[in-house]
Amino acid sequence: MDLYEHQARELFEEHGISVPRAEVTDSPKEAREIARRLGGRVVVKAQVKTGGRGKAGGVKFAADPAAAELTTRQILGMDIKGHTVGKVMLARPVDIEAEFYVSYVLDRAAGGFLAIASAEGGTEIEEVAAARPEAVARIPVDPARGVTSAKAAEIAAAAGLPPRTVDVLVRLWDVLVLEDALLVEVNPLVRTRQGQILALDGKVTLDDNARFRQARWGADGAGHHDPLEAAAAAKGLNYVKLDGEVGVIGNGAGLVMSTLDAVAGCGARPADFLDIGGGASARIMADGLAVILSDPDVRSVLVNVFGGITACDAVADGIVQALGTVRLTKPLVVRLDGNNAARGRAILDARAHPLVEQATTMDGAARRAAELAHSA
Ligand code: GDP
Ligand code: MN
Repeated sequence: MDLYEHQARELFEEHGISVPRAEVTDSPKEAREIARRLGGRVVVKAQVKTGGRGKAGGVKFAADPAAAELTTRQILGMDIKGHTVGKVMLARPVDIEAEFYVSYVLDRAAGGFLAIASAEGGTEIEEVAAARPEAVARIPVDPARGVTSAKAAEIAAAAGLPPRTVDVLVRLWDVLVLEDALLVEVNPLVRTRQGQILALDGKVTLDDNARFRQARWGADGAGHHDPLEAAAAAKGLNYVKLDGEVGVIGNGAGLVMSTLDAVAGCGARPADFLDIGGGASARIMADGLAVILSDPDVRSVLVNVFGGITACDAVADGIVQALGTVRLTKPLVVRLDGNNAARGRAILDARAHPLVEQATTMDGAARRAAELAHSA
């Protein structure tokens, strides 16, 4: 799960990393009060879980409390890369002398962490890395040893950061480890004209597997950026959004993956997939179908079930019950095989829904779903 900037900065503060004074609000009137408390002039910053807010108009200076109210009114509700702004953070502006980039990120391939640092912070690190790769230091960090002062000094030296950032690098590692994060990023870390080192922006991605001991952040979005995935997760469904046109429902990860391949093999692309797992109850079917049908990209739906412990007649019952609660708006191709397949097919035949058809093989079902998607 990604945290908002104001949540990341809360963690930084708790671990002794200095940040500018700031407060969060969703009200323009309150923004005026906050600006007054912070000394009048403020930076108004959209709170959205995406970078590049500055370029998108989501980071603006306001000269006085009245301007802070107006700017807050403008930024609230704004769309930034598909994220709607619900809150802003008002921060006391700082005089920047230099902007740096520092982050720790999980390096799955290496089985460790990577410190990424650059003396050219402020802009997106990908842009710096593309234009001047030598300006970005990448230093492996052994998770068992962590970032000691010596390691931090090595990182700072490699990136050309001032020695005063060493302490921040050590504390940022504490944030990563103690808060169960997979990524911590500060961009920019700044040196002010007064010589302070401050984290001006922060990104923290928490490890969802450690959610049970990081309860303070709640289930907010559950790490899902896609609204359909978030809705499905809220209903306990294993759903993944893709970008094609055939909706796929199957039981078991292996069968679902094969079904995606079968769809692709027929010249179509999966729009999304849902793994109904072992328990293909009517409720799971109804909830799953509802999510898949609400996806405007979906033009046909393919249900591919191999009955094992869950018998095909139970799955067919689930589909029939789902058809009673969800209005089917797109063609549904069903392939049932395995345990009690004949009884399952008979149940669907008896229901005789005009938009439901059956196929006996996975490839046949995929071909038909692809055809229907392309003729829809
Ligand atoms: P991002 O665009 O989402 O990465 O948002 P940031 O919080 O990093 O802000 C973008 C840029 O705005 C920073 O790199 C700074 O150059 C600038 N900025 C943000 N806060 C301040 C501030 O207090 N003072 C000054 N001078 N610039 C700031
Ligand atoms: Mn930034």
